[in-house]
Amino acid sequence: MKEDKKIWLSPPHIGNKEKELVKEAFNTNWIAPVGPHIDSFEIELAKRSRNSNVAALSSGTAAIHLALILAGVQRGDDVICSSFTFSASANPIKYLGANPIFVDSEQESWNMCPFLLEKAIKDALSKNKKPKAIVLVHLYGMPAKLDQIMRIANDYDIPVIEDAAEALGSTYNSQPLGTFGDFGVYSFNGNKIITTSGGGALVCEDKAMIDKARFLATQARDEAPHYEHSQIGYNYRISNVCAAIGLGQLEVLDERVMQKRKINEYYKNELSTINDISFLEERDGSYSNFWLTTIVLDSNSAIDKRKLRLHLEKGNIESRPLWKPMHLQPIFSNCKAYVNGVSVDLFNRGLCLPSGTYMTDEDIKRVVTKIKELYEA
Ligand SMILES: *Cc1c(COP(=O)(O)O)cnc(C)c1O
Repeated sequence: MKEDKKIWLSPPHIGNKEKELVKEAFNTNWIAPVGPHIDSFEIELAKRSRNSNVAALSSGTAAIHLALILAGVQRGDDVICSSFTFSASANPIKYLGANPIFVDSEQESWNMCPFLLEKAIKDALSKNKKPKAIVLVHLYGMPAKLDQIMRIANDYDIPVIEDAAEALGSTYNSQPLGTFGDFGVYSFNGNKIITTSGGGALVCEDKAMIDKARFLATQARDEAPHYEHSQIGYNYRISNVCAAIGLGQLEVLDERVMQKRKINEYYKNELSTINDISFLEERDGSYSNFWLTTIVLDSNSAIDKRKLRLHLEKGNIESRPLWKPMHLQPIFSNCKAYVNGVSVDLFNRGLCLPSGTYMTDEDIKRVVTKIKELYEA
């Protein structure tokens, strides 16, 4: 029997436009981390980000690192960070020798709990140590509780770095995610909603900040005919070839968001008959790109996330547990954390389903059939 082809969680989805643009980059010999496709990519990204200023970079992680530097974070400082996220949200805090303080999730959006955020800030202030920044993640494309979080951040005058790595194309009250905080971060890694094969971007209203980001991202070269340096720099610029891919991908971003939303809708409709499975839902004002469709299994069910994942694996279908919270990661075990049990519960019961826009209708039907097979057995 011929084995069914593998259905991946979130593979890249590239079209002919991207191939043409990459060819154009080659034909014009713009292969360096400088060139016209980078300029155009930044302009097009800016149009999608309320005409903010944009620096295209080598990764989303690099963008978070530079945002922290621009927010003034230094060795020994405290930085508040969502606990329920990928480690790349928190690692750059450590690059700078600063201390992450992790804040758990609320139930509705799975993102940073405003109540615990304020508690963390008040505790820090009572010890005379004001946190230098807040890294706020919009996980799986779902907008965080931006009204409350931005109000708290403004009340205490702490800069917000929005980690919108998974949330390009998502909005809150029609405003793009990544444009609420002082800085916004996008990722174009191969598994994200659009990709440059690897890349990221930093977004900021303040042009001087983005000029500084570009300066730091190109080894902090001072104005001089020779190589002169008065600051430590980084090699964080995107390549022109990657930017060419990104330019083509941006053209199909809205289409990809529609496709991801349709995939989410399909799963919801098809699996709604199974009482043991629930979905993450949008709240008023929230518009998610549904980068990945996530499900949460009932804690009383005989089928747990491991059983379902291994069952799908037998059908050559990739699924994955939700992110393991940072406050439970060995590397961050010594960090302070404000915890309410929400993210660990989601981690214990949740699974990401294949959500690639490359999937055919038959592929997604195969996933649903495989899941139903387990529950109807
Ligand atoms: C992917 C991701 C990043 C890092 O982006 P890279 O481009 O892979 O460096 C950061 N934060 C979150 C939440 C992500 O999912």
